[in-house]
Amino acid sequence: MNGLIERAAKVADVIEVRFDCLEAIARITRPRDFAGTILATYRPQNGGQGGTRELSETEREAFWANPEISEFADWCDLEIDLRPSPAGFKNIIRSFHFFESVPSADEIESTFRTILDAGCDVVKIAVRTDDVTDTIPIWKLLERPSSKPLVPIAMGEAGKWTRILGPAHGAFMTYAALDSGRETAPGQISATDLRDVYRIKELDVNTDVYGILGGDTSYSLSPFIHNAAFGSKRSNAVFVPLQVSDLDAFIRRMVRREAREVELNFKGFAVTIPHKVSIIRHLDEIDETARAIGAVNTVKVVGDKLIGFNTDADGFVQPLKKAYGDLKNARIAVFGAGGAARACVYALSREGAKVSIFTRDEQKATRFADEFGIQAGAGSARFDIVVNATPLGTTGRHETESAVSDAILKDARLAYDLVYNPFETRLLREAKAIGVKAVGGFEMLIAQAIRQQIIWTGIEPSEEAMRSAALKRLRI
Ligand code: NAP
Repeated sequence: MNGLIERAAKVADVIEVRFDCLEAIARITRPRDFAGTILATYRPQNGGQGGTRELSETEREAFWANPEISEFADWCDLEIDLRPSPAGFKNIIRSFHFFESVPSADEIESTFRTILDAGCDVVKIAVRTDDVTDTIPIWKLLERPSSKPLVPIAMGEAGKWTRILGPAHGAFMTYAALDSGRETAPGQISATDLRDVYRIKELDVNTDVYGILGGDTSYSLSPFIHNAAFGSKRSNAVFVPLQVSDLDAFIRRMVRREAREVELNFKGFAVTIPHKVSIIRHLDEIDETARAIGAVNTVKVVGDKLIGFNTDADGFVQPLKKAYGDLKNARIAVFGAGGAARACVYALSREGAKVSIFTRDEQKATRFADEFGIQAGAGSARFDIVVNATPLGTTGRHETESAVSDAILKDARLAYDLVYNPFETRLLREAKAIGVKAVGGFEMLIAQAIRQQIIWTGIEPSEEAMRSAALKRLRI
C-alpha cells in the first residue's frame, strides 16, 4: 500500500486513500516529500454508495474518531448520513453517488441541498451516465451560484469528458485512477493519462474542444493520436471521448448555439460507428468526397456551421500508393461493403483501378457494385491487390479469421488489411508467409488522422508524435 501511495504522490495533488478497501490501517505512512493533500474515505457497501465492505454506523463513527486517521489525512470524504462531521480535518467533502440510474436535474438539485444541510466544505455529486447528454444536469451545477466548491462527476464512458474538462470550468478537483485496472468508479481515467495525454493542467475555458462521436468510444485510439498532435504543438486544444447514442439530442443540446445547454467550445469531431451516415442530416455543408462516399468521418465547426468531410478515402489510398505505386488499371479485390469499403472503392476508382467487391451477401455486392460502377466479385479471379474492409481478423472473436481465400491471396502482389488491432492480422501473416507484400490498417489510421488535423487546424501535425502515441496504446 505504501508503494502505491508513493507512486500516487508523483502524479497527484490529492491522494485519496480508500480505507474501506484496506485490510489493516496500520503502517500506512505519508509519502516522503509530498507537499499535497491526503484525503481519507471509508465508504460502506451498505447504502449503495460504492463502498467495498459492510460497515455499521458504530464502526464508521469509531473510524472517524480515531486520531491516527486525522493525523494521517488532511481531508475526509463523508456520506450524507454520517453526522455530525468528525473533528481534526481541514476540509470535509460530502459526497453522494447515483450508481443505479441517471438522475434528473431535480434529483441532483435536491441532493445538492441535502449535502449543504449536512455540513461540509466541498460538495461532491457523482452520477451515472449512459449517453453523453446525461452529463448535462450534473455539468450545469458548475454554473449554479454556490457557496461551496463543487466536484461534479459524470461516471461511465459517456461522462469521461467531464473528468477531463471539469477543473478548467471551475470544478474543485477531478478524480483519477492510479493505473488502469485500479479505477474506483466507472469511467475513471488514469492519473498519468489525465496529465500527459489530456494535459489537464493546461486546459482552461478557452481551450478548443474536439472529440470522437461514437456509440462505444472506449476502444478508440483517436484521443491518444489527436492529443499527441495537439500536445506536440502545445496548442490550447484537447480531444475527448464523446459516447453518443442519441445523435440528434447531442447536436441540439450540446452543439447548436440556439438550443445548446452547455458551452464547451467545440471546434470539431471525428465520427465513427454508428454515426458516419446519420451525422450528415445535421450538417450545413459537406465536401465532395464525403458526399460521393455517402459517409462523414470528420466534422469541422466554423462559427455556427458544421461542415462534413471524409478523410478515410485519402487516408486509405496514400499508404497503398506508397507501397504499390501507381494504381491505374491495378486489379483490386475489396472485401466488405460497409462504410470503410465505400471510402476505399471511391478512392480506388478515382485512381483508375479496376475494383471488384466481395461480400457475404451477394445482393448487397450487386447493389454496391452498381452504385460505384464496379464489378461484383465472384469465384477466384486473379487480383494484384486484396483489401480487407471487414472486421475479420480483429482482436476478439474474429481474430483467427480472414476474409480472403488462399486461392485469391496466392496470386496477389499486395494484401492490405484495414484492421489495425492486432497490428499483424492473420491475413497479413499469411500474405508475408507466401511472399505477398503486406500493409496494415495502422498506416491508414494515422494517415486519415493527419488529414483530420489539417482540416481542423490548417496546420501539418507531427506524424511522429501521432504514430508513437498510437503504438504505445497498442503496446507495440
Ligand atoms: P461496417 O460499416 O460495419 O462494415 C463492415 C463490413 O464487413 C460489412 O460489409 C459487413 O457485411 C462485413 N462483415 C461484418 N462481419 C462479417 C463477417 N463475419 N464475415 C464477412 N463479412 C463481415 O464497418 P466499417 O466501418 O466499414 O469497418 C470495417 C473494418 O475496417 C473494421 O474492422 C474497422 O475497424 C476497419 N477500419 C479501419 C480504419 C483504419 O483507419 N485503419 C478505418 C475505418 C475502418 P454486411 O454488410 O453483410 O453486414
